[in-house]
Parts: sequence; C-alpha cells; structure tokens
Amino acid sequence: MRRKEKMVMTPQRRVLLEELKSSLDHPSADELLERVRRRLPRTSLATVYRNMELMASLGLVRKLKGKRGRAHFDGRMEPHHHMRCALCGRFFDLPHEVEGLSIELPGEICGNKVLDWNLEILVECSLCRGGN
Ligand SMILES: [Zn+2]
Ligand SMILES: [Zn+2]
Repeated sequence: MRRKEKMVMTPQRRVLLEELKSSLDHPSADELLERVRRRLPRTSLATVYRNMELMASLGLVRKLKGKRGRAHFDGRMEPHHHMRCALCGRFFDLPHEVEGLSIELPGEICGNKVLDWNLEILVECSLCRGGN
C-alpha cells in the first residue's frame, strides 16, 4: 500500500469517494460522473478524471484498466481479485470462495513479500451470456 499523503477534501472529492465506496460495480469515470451530478450538477468529466487519478495515486481508490484502456474505479481497498468481461468490459469482484483457487493473500511468494494483489480473470459475464 502506498503512503497516504495529505489531500484537501473538497466537496467534489468527498462526493466522488462516497459515490464510489457505495458502488460495487467498478464504474468508469463517465458512469461516476452521472452519479456525482445528481448531487453536484456542475461537475465536469475532466474534474472527475483529475480527482480520481489523484485519489488513485494516493491509495484512496483503486484504478483498473478496462476494455481499450478505459479506466474503472474501485472503492474497495482490501486485497481482492477481479473478473473482467471481455464483451461488455464490466468488472466483478471475485467471490471469496472459488473452487481450485486460493483467495487468501499469501505473506510471501518466491521469497518476495506480498503487499497487495489484484489478479484479473477474463470472462464472458452472465449478463452477456444471458442476452440474445
Ligand atoms: Zn459482459
Ligand atoms: Zn473490486
């Protein structure tokens, strides 16, 4: 985990963090913008990007790289893995129990101390498989 530096908590940053922490769907910047605009209608996409990049660099949120390099954000900071849908680009948290896969964060791998991990498993999600 990166060192937490000081950041001025502006109303926009507070709302962004609150919206993200209450979302489980790993929104992209424009999805986050829609939610934030319900409370702060004058927020721009550039503001969302700038603040999310800053908060990601300070270790307050996770930034995930989605389809075609599109950024998605995750407010859940404890170590966990993701499934990413190759078709729609959605991210899903991997449940804690998956057959044949250890989910517990190991202390060490090959003599290296493990600080965090985030594996990405490429899937076709059930929403995409269910539709047409
Ligand atoms: Zn999908
Ligand atoms: Zn996640």
